[in-house]
Amino acid sequence: MTQNLEGRATEEQNLLLLLNKENMGKRIAYLFLTFLILDLKAIFSIEQANANIYSSIVDKMIIESQNDTLPYHRLSYMCDVFGPRLSGSENLEKTLIWMLDEMKKDGFANVRADSVKVPHWVRKYEKCELVYPRNADIPVFALGGTISTPKGGIEAEVITVKSFDELESRKGEVKGKIVVYNFPYEGYGKGVQYRFHGAHRAAKYGAVATLIRSISPNVSRNVHTGMMTYADSVIKIPHAAISPEDAMLLERLISYGITPKLRLNIDAETLPDATSFNLIGEITGEEYPDEIIAVGGHTDSWDAGTGAHDNAGGCIVTWEAVRLIKKIGLKPKRTIRIVQWTNEENGVRGGNTYRDMHKDENHVLMFEHDSGIFPPKSVRFTGPEKILEFIKTFDPLFKKFGNVDVTNGGGGVDIGPMMKLGIPGMNIGTDDAGKYFYYHHNHSDTVDKVKKEDLNSCIAIIAAAIYLYSELPSEMLSK
Ligand SMILES: [Zn+2]
Repeated sequence: MTQNLEGRATEEQNLLLLLNKENMGKRIAYLFLTFLILDLKAIFSIEQANANIYSSIVDKMIIESQNDTLPYHRLSYMCDVFGPRLSGSENLEKTLIWMLDEMKKDGFANVRADSVKVPHWVRKYEKCELVYPRNADIPVFALGGTISTPKGGIEAEVITVKSFDELESRKGEVKGKIVVYNFPYEGYGKGVQYRFHGAHRAAKYGAVATLIRSISPNVSRNVHTGMMTYADSVIKIPHAAISPEDAMLLERLISYGITPKLRLNIDAETLPDATSFNLIGEITGEEYPDEIIAVGGHTDSWDAGTGAHDNAGGCIVTWEAVRLIKKIGLKPKRTIRIVQWTNEENGVRGGNTYRDMHKDENHVLMFEHDSGIFPPKSVRFTGPEKILEFIKTFDPLFKKFGNVDVTNGGGGVDIGPMMKLGIPGMNIGTDDAGKYFYYHHNHSDTVDKVKKEDLNSCIAIIAAAIYLYSELPSEMLSK
């Protein structure tokens, strides 16, 4: 009793204190706390309501996608019948014609193709041989954009370095040599700098060619290709990838006091730009048809394997997610637009052309899938904090797909040009168990590496994410 009375007295005193004009700071703090509590209650009730309204829709998406055999058929057909889809290739153009036709069959609105000029680099021949201290073939994969060696190839001694720092410290030893970057795999981001910049960094000091250790945690004498660049002011030299085993072999030979010699022969050519296409198809929004959610993947791939994970899978899961929304009879409030971008791998001309042609239309979200087909583990979003907080209220719905979190940091290469203009971006993070870079830009990236259940899970969660986004209250999207 005493405690209660004392408690009430203290409460009244505190209130008086807060009402006192001299305690304005505390008063504001009190009001802020009150609003915070009200706000949290509001978010909680939104969460409850969302869970109730949308739970059965998401369940339906999951069941329908798991029972649908068309997506996996389309993925395997695209990979097996048309093959790898390097920009400028006939394979890519045949794929796009087939996709456009299939999208029309699906009954999407406004199915069309935007013309895009793309780079046209072609690989013709490549061979690498160890010629000293013994003769052996070294598997090699020229990097996208490289020049050829002179006719008959280049024969030169090898110097191995582990990093650009080591290259700089030994720059006096580089002239006339083939520089081999033998950096250990510590994630894609760290390795990719040697693929992009390895040639011009060594050419500056007189190297005659450069080889990188393939960027992959998989050590099974695999070679992985990808994009490289030259610097305008530096002489161009051939640049290619060898397997981790062979990069290590060359370094070990040097440790024995032997200077190995390689013969490298590459024939590659950059032809005039070719014509390609971004593909578009839509479900027109019921309430806000002018507000666009663009969702897609990139149709091109390296000329390695059949580009199943990278990125036929990304095309199929985004396209099929929109078909799933349509198939179960949902009428999204906003327009959901499939965009299949061309030329992500060696130019981003598809993403840039899309921005140039469509930036004046009212995009409310850009979504891309380009992270392999594995179980979903996150819904990633870049955009206003208030939208991110709202998407987080759908967390119980995303948990239907497993331990999926809503996190900050969505994006993608093709949607980058639009995101730079301030349009929010989203993607689905996947749990690849460390395997994506086993297949990435490698001949093993074939459809047998993609599991049907993972493909269908990605389709259903993308359908859920973009459909729920299309349901956002209009005040959320007001600028
Ligand atoms: Zn990709």
